[in-house]
Amino acid sequence: MDAPERYEQLIAFLESNLPAPVDRQETPDGSVQFISGEPAEVVVSLTETSVLVSEFSGVWESQFTFAARPRRVGVLKWRRLQETALFNALAVLIKGAREMRLSRFQVCRYCGRSTAPEWMHDDGVCQACADQHSGAIH
Ligand SMILES: [Zn+2]
Repeated sequence: MDAPERYEQLIAFLESNLPAPVDRQETPDGSVQFISGEPAEVVVSLTETSVLVSEFSGVWESQFTFAARPRRVGVLKWRRLQETALFNALAVLIKGAREMRLSRFQVCRYCGRSTAPEWMHDDGVCQACADQHSGAIH
């Protein structure tokens, strides 16, 4: 199988195997980035030679600016692998990254929602509840 066809296969695989919804973006350097999950769980960057899988993560740079800082879990040189090995390895990396991300979620003790760490206020309370009960929770 030639490379362009495998590349298209990879895109199709990612779109159907990443946690929904999948946001696909072409980046200025020519790679294709997939950010999946709501809130984001897994980030995959696909280039002409490699596919890089990361756990979604980020930091608040200011009160209103959240900067994504995905944590890499693995890079596959996709042209060097046969189809079965490639897709198996990719599926395992995606699953692993997702498990790590979800393990960081906390359940808010007010609304009971499972919340991403960047949306937790503190002390087991999500940001939305903290805003709502502003002044009441300390
Ligand atoms: Zn809450």
